[in-house]
Amino acid sequence: MRQRLSSEPDRYRGRRRVPTPPRSRYAVVVTSAFVGAGVVALGAASNLPDAKAVSPDVLESLKTSQVATEALNERAEDGNRASRSNDREADAELDAAALNDIYLLPLDDYEFTSAYGVRFGKLHAGIDLAAPDGTPYKAVHAGKVTKAGYNGGYGYSITVQQDDGTEVIYAHSRRLLVKAGDAVKAGQVIGEVGNTGYSYGTHLHLEVHVKGTPVDPIVFFQDQGVDIKLKIESVYAGMAAAEAAS
Ligand SMILES: [Zn+2]
Repeated sequence: MRQRLSSEPDRYRGRRRVPTPPRSRYAVVVTSAFVGAGVVALGAASNLPDAKAVSPDVLESLKTSQVATEALNERAEDGNRASRSNDREADAELDAAALNDIYLLPLDDYEFTSAYGVRFGKLHAGIDLAAPDGTPYKAVHAGKVTKAGYNGGYGYSITVQQDDGTEVIYAHSRRLLVKAGDAVKAGQVIGEVGNTGYSYGTHLHLEVHVKGTPVDPIVFFQDQGVDIKLKIESVYAGMAAAEAAS
């Protein structure tokens, strides 16, 4: 059961996947189950009316959510073990590792206005997410800021490089809130949506480069448990963020 449910992105990325570290497997299992089920509330099973009254679709969803629940329980057990040994450092390490693994949506709300692909005979190397001028946007994953400043058609833009070398570019900003050399965490506000550079209307243009080559961010994020079009990020990611904030 502890296997990746999605195998497709390997083809897209044309490279061998780095083995998933044990801690991030939970995120993958939970996320895949939730995207597939279309977000099922955890614990819904306990509130269910008579099973006969429930449609087969709902039952199927609950089966899927059971997978997620098990994964979460397993993680909770890990947490308990760490607490029992009264090792706060281990807890902190677990949280830090979880936060390092997760991907989050860059904006709380937005309109998906343009896909990755050829547009007007040129490659539109990213996706466009429209939001009002000045809306704060967040780093989708932990990494280090390698560029932050005005960059031609990109306007005010930020490049964040992850540990694995993958780069995420945030363009057309009104304002940048980080500088080159800064370390950022997933969910950290790094800039504000704007309309600078070669841009029509205020939006965040987001690019993902794997080994120096642009890839479709929709596919890339789906593999990380984040659905840009449906605006879904993993439940586990929310839990990790809440833990970090507590
Ligand atoms: Zn764009």
